[in-house]
Amino acid sequence: MPKRTARTTIPIADSRYDGGVPAMAPGARAPEGVFTDQFGRRLHDLRISVTDRCNFRCTYCMPKAVFGRDHAFLPQSSLLSFEEITRVAGIFVAHGVEKIRLTGGEPLLRKNLDRLVGMLAQLRTPSGRRPELTLTTNGALLRRLARPLREAGLDRLTVSLDSLDDAVFRQMNDVDCPVGDVLDGIAAAGQAGFERIKINMVVKRGVNDDGIVPMAAHFRGSPCIVRFIEFMDVGSSNGWRLDDVVPGAEVIRRLDEAFGIEPAAPNYRGEVARRWRYRDGAGEVGVISSVTRPFCADCSRARLSTEGKLFTCLFATHGHDLRALLRNGVDDAGLGAAIAAIWGARDDRYSELRSDATVGLRKIEMSYIGG
Ligand code: SAM
Ligand code: SF4
Ligand code: SF4
Repeated sequence: MPKRTARTTIPIADSRYDGGVPAMAPGARAPEGVFTDQFGRRLHDLRISVTDRCNFRCTYCMPKAVFGRDHAFLPQSSLLSFEEITRVAGIFVAHGVEKIRLTGGEPLLRKNLDRLVGMLAQLRTPSGRRPELTLTTNGALLRRLARPLREAGLDRLTVSLDSLDDAVFRQMNDVDCPVGDVLDGIAAAGQAGFERIKINMVVKRGVNDDGIVPMAAHFRGSPCIVRFIEFMDVGSSNGWRLDDVVPGAEVIRRLDEAFGIEPAAPNYRGEVARRWRYRDGAGEVGVISSVTRPFCADCSRARLSTEGKLFTCLFATHGHDLRALLRNGVDDAGLGAAIAAIWGARDDRYSELRSDATVGLRKIEMSYIGG
């Protein structure tokens, strides 16, 4: 990790997962320009969770034993409105955020999501550019929604797809969704104008790892880019064990044996997926090795939860309640100051420090914070 820089931001109160409000100095204003954290990492990406609900119950994310019929999801009144989301996102964009990803839960369950996309598409960075708008979805509702989202201004799509084998796919989503629905959704997205769609496959040993090569083979030579993701110890309910992780290096070895691949340069600094290309020119794949090859040193992502808590790490145990500030009438300068203070105090590097002790912590669930 780089050395810590001196703390230059406004001190904030320690907030908890269950709701601390950043303490605001009267008349506080955000510093000009981009925000950097304790290790000099620039705030560049914002992930916004628009719902904590999901139409799937992926066993590694929302196991039915925990997210069953009686699970209490957030009430509608707790959710940030589209106006509130856009206002917060506007502050981030004004301070250098160039990429916004909508996620969840399943973001396509949020009603009128295309309206939110249209509102976010109006934002401009200080240099007059529109931030890139992306979305991660399980794809089950994409057939109907791809076109309106595209027309509203969504730039890019990531579709999660853990297996092409219908039985394995149904077992992993645990709601009996056929894989054909997601494949149809991906096709519809292509027809709606989305290019270079990313396909995320979370690999779990003994569950779907025999599908690594078939998944790559299916999308080889197509405009889609498959990314293989190591199963992570997000949240506290997915029964994570290191033995279930298929290391990225093993994925690469299997793909190399099957097709012949070679490393490709990153598209930009801080890109989470390591890129590999087929030697025969049939495109590329990505490998995201959060467990075996952490990338905290370049991590530039902030996460805004459905109810407006700001998290500075996917594995955080607490967030900062921006919704309370919004609903108490904070002005934009004050909101910016709070965000600057939160990011300025950030020293997260969970994946680099992962140990038996950290795995057991009560962390935020992936479906709440967004992937
Ligand atoms: N519901 C949407 C979807 O599945 O694409 C968006 C939210 S989901 C939480 C975002 C991403 O996180 C998905 O690609 C999912 O596969 C991934 N994910 C969820 N739990 C994970 C885990 N324990 N380890 C690795 N990736 C995980
Ligand atoms: Fe839902 Fe996505 Fe989690 Fe699966 S990974 S349960 S689709 S939020
Ligand atoms: Fe970023 Fe936290 Fe993941 Fe490290 S563990 S890469 S700091 S989100």
